[in-house]
Amino acid sequence: MTMMNSIGFTTDRNETEAKRRADMAARGFPMLDMPNLEFTPEVAEATQHLYERVKDVVPAIEWPFHAPYVKAINDLKKVRNAVILAHNYMTPEIYHCVADIVGDSLQLAREAAAVDAKVIVQGGVHFMAETSKLMNPDKIVLMPDMKAGCSLAESITPEDVRGLRARYPGVPIVTYVNTSAAVKAECDICCTSSNAVKVVESLGAPRVLLIPDEYLAKYVATKTDVEILTWKGHCEVHERFTGKELHAYREDDPAVRIIAHPECPPDVIAEADFTGSTAHMIDWVKKNAPEKVVLVTECSMADNVAAETPGVHFVRPCNLCPHMKRITLPKILDSLVYMRSEVTIDPAVIAPARAAVERMVNLKN
Ligand code: SF4
Repeated sequence: MTMMNSIGFTTDRNETEAKRRADMAARGFPMLDMPNLEFTPEVAEATQHLYERVKDVVPAIEWPFHAPYVKAINDLKKVRNAVILAHNYMTPEIYHCVADIVGDSLQLAREAAAVDAKVIVQGGVHFMAETSKLMNPDKIVLMPDMKAGCSLAESITPEDVRGLRARYPGVPIVTYVNTSAAVKAECDICCTSSNAVKVVESLGAPRVLLIPDEYLAKYVATKTDVEILTWKGHCEVHERFTGKELHAYREDDPAVRIIAHPECPPDVIAEADFTGSTAHMIDWVKKNAPEKVVLVTECSMADNVAAETPGVHFVRPCNLCPHMKRITLPKILDSLVYMRSEVTIDPAVIAPARAAVERMVNLKN
């Protein structure tokens, strides 16, 4: 009996995959063969200029593994009429060598809307791919790994938001962009870590619910007179930093500059010289070019900024995001060859979720 079930499941999966492939072919995207992935002299020559961008952060011994994927992905992007969006937390060989658009999640989605491409491959986590789909409903959005989630996005459900509405009638609900499309659909407006204060104040209300990140909400509360209510969501990467460890870095070297993301706990923010979104952190380092800096955020972002700021020494108490690290060159190539996995959103959710994002995008400066 067990055996029959197992065979039944396999057959179902094969049939579903065959149907998916036929559907993609009918939409103009036939399946392709996996390209040759040897590190040949031709591959070395074609990718040398890209290695120059990352040579300070990617060891030479690793490049023969990355280069065949880099070349194959860049070739296939033309065949598929695709762009790759890479969040600031993608590894340097993705961020600097195959990405077409880089930035924080909102920058990615907004810029992709202006690109003449049929396919978007999301270098980032699932909620980002959903936001890309909301902003680009006519494009095919592919996730190289559907399991790339986010502790913040998973901390709250649409039912939770409806519960908050019932408990706080009349209080507007602002959702951080790190939420599912279904949660965004229940909220009044979206925000990012760059514009959260502006979004909260734009509502003209004395009290606002800012969900799901407790620490971002606490940070915003220090910057506005609006009363901020929140939720108990945390980023599992940023919540691991402590003010004590940062204080030790400063005691060790008083010249070090500490730059923190607002998803960090309040004692970390209190130790920081500057607090801002990933995009603002990058701008700050490029503009101020400190001799030594601690970027209190995800490790790959420090690598990506280091590749562009050779004079700056990065002290690294960084934490890796296990979800972001699910996205790799082999999985991106797999997405382009086999056109998987396509991100879809419940049609009932699309309009209200998109409206929450657009209300933020359309806010005047
Ligand atoms: S770094 Fe934190 S907020 Fe960003 S995807 Fe990972 S868990 Fe989510």
